[in-house]
Amino acid sequence: MHVDEETGAIAPPLHLSTTFERDSEGEASRGYSYIRDGNPTQARLEEALAAIDSAAAAVVFGSGMAAGASLLQSLPAGTHVLLPDDCYYGYRALADDYFDRWGLMFDVVSMDDLSAVRAAVRHGGIIWAESPSNPLLRVVDIRALAEIAHENGGRIVVDGTFASPALQRPIELGADVVLHSTTKYLGGHTDVQGGSLAFRERDEWLEATLHARKLIGAVASPFNSWLVLRGIRTLCARMRVHSENAAAVAAFLSAHPRVEAVYYPGLPSHPGHEIARRQMSGFGGMLSFLVRGSREDALAVASKTRIFMRATSLGGVESLIEHRQSSEGPGSRTAENLLRLSAGLEHREDLVEDLAEALR
Ligand SMILES: *Cc1c(COP(=O)(O)O)cnc(C)c1O
Repeated sequence: MHVDEETGAIAPPLHLSTTFERDSEGEASRGYSYIRDGNPTQARLEEALAAIDSAAAAVVFGSGMAAGASLLQSLPAGTHVLLPDDCYYGYRALADDYFDRWGLMFDVVSMDDLSAVRAAVRHGGIIWAESPSNPLLRVVDIRALAEIAHENGGRIVVDGTFASPALQRPIELGADVVLHSTTKYLGGHTDVQGGSLAFRERDEWLEATLHARKLIGAVASPFNSWLVLRGIRTLCARMRVHSENAAAVAAFLSAHPRVEAVYYPGLPSHPGHEIARRQMSGFGGMLSFLVRGSREDALAVASKTRIFMRATSLGGVESLIEHRQSSEGPGSRTAENLLRLSAGLEHREDLVEDLAEALR
């Protein structure tokens, strides 16, 4: 934490200025010149994010999609990107609709199958991993994937949005870049959009990404940067409660006769449980479950909760319930009876009781 040098303020100041005075030699000697290149509130957020992700540097953007798109657009034409088969739908849509125009190639594999990854990775290519994944909460072995990427002269990006840096620090496990949608746990209050990339090294990919951010204008606004800084101050404490609440809900659902399956990495029955124990310091606040029966049975459960609100997104203080197939729309590969939960910070007993009522 820094105290503001000019005023002694404990909370960080919010600098909205779009332009900054140059010295008499014409130089931007205080480090800032125009808001799209960088601004003090954004820089302060970047410093905080680099520190909590054990990174050499962090770069923030207007959204998680802007972060991922800027990173991908900064790759040399001809680069091969290996995507997980359960990739966040937005990045998969970028691959389908834009990679060709950007001169990128891609393949899709199941990233928990390391031999499939070894067979599909190309020399000098990028492995794009996501853990835990959406909406099945699959957990991939980040250390093993990083080794495969590096043995092949390539690099690995990890989308760690579901875990947040409070529970998982991929750079410490060998990742080159960590992506977060700061719209989720880092912001934490359902009132700010943003994205971030943390880099293990200050390398040419970082420089190329900064260049892309500036020219495309994918920057984070000062106010949004300030709100994410505000969220970070309570991140670790919030993640503990999110995790405890999700664990209680997962345990309750696992024993419920109307529930066919529960996907939560904290459950010993989860296929990624052992890896999650090794690479995460908590299992997080996200889970999904299958309601026995059809789409209508699942929708009926979601329509009866009173504390869990029916909405997409995650990571806020309020609990959310989502019929994921409806959110993903046509072409969704999610089961029709799957409901995804973001456990908020309410009392654990109230959340369990709410679901018990809805399943009755
Ligand atoms: C929400 C999300 C994103 C995209 O972030 P936006 O801030 O919505 O652009 C990327 N990855 C994951 C895992 C997400 O949940």
